[in-house]
Amino acid sequence: MTDCLFCKIIDGKIPSKKIYEDDRVYAFEDINPQAPTHVLIIPKRHIVDIKEATDADAEIIGYCNLVAAKIARERGLERGYRTVYNVGPDSGQTVFHLHLHLLGGRPMTWPPG
Ligand code: AMP
Ligand code: ZN
Repeated sequence: MTDCLFCKIIDGKIPSKKIYEDDRVYAFEDINPQAPTHVLIIPKRHIVDIKEATDADAEIIGYCNLVAAKIARERGLERGYRTVYNVGPDSGQTVFHLHLHLLGGRPMTWPPG
């Protein structure tokens, strides 16, 4: 999608700190980190968010979590971490290209704010 921030990051038109990439996903450092580790994992195919996703997107939605687990393992986050898909305005979603937040490196509170 041409007018999408994260599609531009995938295409290298906007710079990012790449953590991981394969044929399906791209992972990079969040520009405004909320924890010592704050990585975004995004599908290369433009999907708006979970509520707009279809059955055809089921695998990639799960795969993003497996990539998050791999990054967490590499970073030694054995005490735990959190993965979050924000969905819609009340969740705080600001970018409308599906992205999984990986947060870790500090204790997380529950319930989240
Ligand atoms: P959300 O609020 O769930 O839509 O998350 C969007 C995330 O994208 C926020 O955590 C932002 O800090 C992050 N973000 C926005 N622009 C950039 C950028 N150019 N590079 C990296 N992260 C970004
Ligand atoms: Zn996009």
